[in-house]
Amino acid sequence: MRRTGTRPELAVRSALHRRGLRFVVDRSPPGANRRRRVDVLLRGARIALFVDGCFWHSCPEHGVLPRANRDWWRVKLRGVVLRDRDTDAQLTAAGWLVVRAWEHEDPLDVAARVHLLDAGRRPVVRGRRAGA
Ligand SMILES: [Zn+2]
Repeated sequence: MRRTGTRPELAVRSALHRRGLRFVVDRSPPGANRRRRVDVLLRGARIALFVDGCFWHSCPEHGVLPRANRDWWRVKLRGVVLRDRDTDAQLTAAGWLVVRAWEHEDPLDVAARVHLLDAGRRPVVRGRRAGA
């Protein structure tokens, strides 16, 4: 279900790159469940960024319950959200800041938000901000 490199995610990655941010993609960070992969990891600032699909992750604006097999979908989609919250809890416990963006968000806005957070979370080494 976790598809890597969806179009909205690629757009966010490209916007982050243009801002000079360094990151790795589709990894499970140290300290977290190996099966929980993160879309974009900024390791220096310990930020775990997800670009969540509106359908699968039940976006409040665009999430819909398909008419056919409604009950099955209700359970299925609820399970995805519960898994997301569990992933968030695991990552937070391991010291990561979890940032979730919706695929419908402007990738430039997402990148700007992450850039600000990144700048505030870099470890300070000898009075200078360390690289990512
Ligand atoms: Zn949406």
